[in-house]
Amino acid sequence: MPACPKNCIGLGTKINQQGYAAAFFARPDDCTGCAVCAEGCPDVCIEVWR
Ligand code: SF4
Repeated sequence: MPACPKNCIGLGTKINQQGYAAAFFARPDDCTGCAVCAEGCPDVCIEVWR
């Protein structure tokens, strides 16, 4: 399952301290506020404001 059904989230090229490529908000204008990204983030890093 993708992190965002609208494909708003991109993957950066830099590797963070945990060894992952950090995600970034690539297309905020397409965001519907559905919060699928927040519910799926294992580290609870995303907060959605509608
Ligand atoms: S709130 Fe929904 S549309 Fe917006 S970035 Fe998260 S998953 Fe994508």
